Amino acid sequence: MKWLMRRCSRCGRYTLRHDRCPYCGGELYVPHPHRFSPDDKYVAYRTEMKRKTGLLALDKPVYYDP
Ligand SMILES: [Zn+2]
Repeated sequence: MKWLMRRCSRCGRYTLRHDRCPYCGGELYVPHPHRFSPDDKYVAYRTEMKRKTGLLALDKPVYYDP
């Protein structure tokens, strides 16, 4: 299925155009969330990439203050 709706990254309005925002001329992106599957085949690769780029710090203790 092809997504038709786009959202402007500058003003946040929705449009059906695919090139530019008709209101402000900003860049458009697909506002739909990524597909999700409970049996994710690539979670090991994503976790490894996040850990290597510092987005995911598994070696640091998690600070929890309820
Ligand atoms: Zn816009």
